[in-house]
Amino acid sequence: MVEGGCFCKRIRYIIADGVYPSVICHCTMCRHIHAAPHVTWLVVPVAQFEYVAGTPTALASSTDGTRYFCSSCGTHVACCNTGHTDIIDVAIGSLDKPEAFPPTLSIYVDTQLPTHPTLEIKP
Ligand SMILES: [Zn+2]
Ligand SMILES: [Zn+2]
Repeated sequence: MVEGGCFCKRIRYIIADGVYPSVICHCTMCRHIHAAPHVTWLVVPVAQFEYVAGTPTALASSTDGTRYFCSSCGTHVACCNTGHTDIIDVAIGSLDKPEAFPPTLSIYVDTQLPTHPTLEIKP
């Protein structure tokens, strides 16, 4: 069982054990919303993911994307997209053990900050 949640622990989730892609996103929306140079997402089938404590607040960040965060501590834990409703992107920093899923791909590298490089992982 993979577990995680927000900083204040009001939001907790579980993910069934499995092999899931870990993707570094350099898009400007992730950058602003997480206030970080880039965000790594664990890409999980929604059927494998479940909130077990708390209910995150939804933020429509685009016409097809919705972000989910803890209204108490502000941690962003997940993102869903109407383009792939069977998938939930889980913010890797919210996992209890993010080191279990090293990133294998970078996306939106066209907007990557050259001053904040990551591993050379390109699609
Ligand atoms: Zn919280
Ligand atoms: Zn992004």
